[in-house]
Amino acid sequence: MADEGKTKLTMMTSGTMHADLVWLLIDPSRMLTPDNKNAKRDWVEVPTHVVLIEHANGEKLLWDTGVPRDWESRWGEAGLAQFFPCDAVDEEMWLDSRLNQLKLEPGDIDYLVLSHLHLDHAANAQMWAGTDTKIIVDEKEKEGALSFDGYSQGAHIKSDYDGLPLTTINEDTEIMPGVTILQTPGHTWGTLSLQADLPDSGTMLFTSDSLYLKESYGPPPIAAGIVYDTVQWFESVEKIRGIEEKTNAKVIFGHSADQLGELKIGPGNYYT
Ligand SMILES: [Zn+2]
Repeated sequence: MADEGKTKLTMMTSGTMHADLVWLLIDPSRMLTPDNKNAKRDWVEVPTHVVLIEHANGEKLLWDTGVPRDWESRWGEAGLAQFFPCDAVDEEMWLDSRLNQLKLEPGDIDYLVLSHLHLDHAANAQMWAGTDTKIIVDEKEKEGALSFDGYSQGAHIKSDYDGLPLTTINEDTEIMPGVTILQTPGHTWGTLSLQADLPDSGTMLFTSDSLYLKESYGPPPIAAGIVYDTVQWFESVEKIRGIEEKTNAKVIFGHSADQLGELKIGPGNYYT
């Protein structure tokens, strides 16, 4: 095999939601105005993805966990099932299906990195309860996500992550050679991005919800309906842009249906 001994990065879809585009893009050109009071709303596909890195050193890292099979009840209790229905998920896309396709058990993953603890990223994290997998989140994300009482706050559902042993980082951290977790807060208390420097494919930068879509990136950037700290969010966008310019990175947006067609999507297809 030509790729034997190389680091392999596999990006996989992990369940598609639908939502009003306003949640993703507060775009003035789509706002109602006196001349345009009947503008149509956009009900758009919002895909999710996970990334598996099988490192040349033998370790495995999984980035995010997609959406849950029981979204209707779980998200219904948070009042969000109607806003983000997971109504376009093929059986093969659920995370447990993906792991089966890869012939992996949760415990085979050395590092589970959660970009943040929102309901469409951390939803399947409890699959790692009782394993030796290191579950990594940003320190401020953990603090914030455990700071409230009750079932949920915004798009954080406590039972998604409560009780898990969460290892935290508080600076940009290289987890494995050439694989770095970047702090890009703003969308939530501690949203992370993933930078993978690959020998053949170059640098890939997975932004998660720090950038939902190409339009979010601009320039100029367009903020989203859910932003914890707008000032930090704009700073994080420019941090991403700085790394993109320095490394000539390919920037992969968190929820872009348009971009999926331009990428190698696995399992079976991967970047080296
Ligand atoms: Zn989010």
